[in-house]
Amino acid sequence: MLQLDGVTAGFGAGRLALDGVDLDVADHETVCVLGPSGSGKSTLLRVTAGLHTPRSGRVLLSGRDQDGVPPHRRGVGLMFQDHQLFPQRDVGGNVAFGLRMRGVGRHERDERVAELLALVGLPGTQRRQVTALSGGEQQRVALARALAPQPRLLMLDEPLGQLDRGLRERLVVELRALFAELRTTVLAVTHDQGEAFALADRVVVMNEGRVAQAGTPLEVWRSPASEFVARFLGFDN
Ligand code: ATP
Ligand code: MG
Repeated sequence: MLQLDGVTAGFGAGRLALDGVDLDVADHETVCVLGPSGSGKSTLLRVTAGLHTPRSGRVLLSGRDQDGVPPHRRGVGLMFQDHQLFPQRDVGGNVAFGLRMRGVGRHERDERVAELLALVGLPGTQRRQVTALSGGEQQRVALARALAPQPRLLMLDEPLGQLDRGLRERLVVELRALFAELRTTVLAVTHDQGEAFALADRVVVMNEGRVAQAGTPLEVWRSPASEFVARFLGFDN
């Protein structure tokens, strides 16, 4: 589904935010990207979404080079780290946004919005103001909005950040079931390894713009590829 070949990206003259990243995400796979703050996780998603242009390397979706393809033509959905809901629109207006952009008619739009809100556990909340929702509820609305256009690749940047542990644990289980049901291909960023290990078919550990290790959760847990990965996972020696 997604293939990154030697992608480098940066901002201005400083250190590269991505420094030769190779990554493959197969159809229907859930891959979680782990790594410390500043390791390039969000940049990886932004480059894939077409919101940031790489300096070199290639981004392929379903085998096609995305060089020059604008974000709205990539068929990907991105839920931002800070969700960026539209505060002036109600819940329904937020979820329907991508559908309206694609010219989906009113009737079908309303139906899909209702379905999606039920799916994320917020049925019947279409007319509520997003500013009046809790952080966890806003995160679910952002998730419904990202899912609405049925992207071939769903990218989530810290989808459960800002939530308390109980809610995170419940949502991880719900998300896993949801992704399986929708057969969505998912690339999700988290800095919580418990979350990554619970959600992912494969995990990718980033360090300073490079892939430090990629593998199944078990592989990475059992045989960390470097001292960095071992320390990041919390092994002391
Ligand atoms: P976090 O876990 O804190 O969200 P991250 O792994 O998502 O971190 P990125 O946001 O991808 O990290 O940032 C990677 C590097 O690029 C960092 O050194 C960061 O300072 C830099 N960077 C990111 N966005 C910008 C920007 N808009 N302008 C300048 N530098 C940036
Ligand atoms: Mg980030």
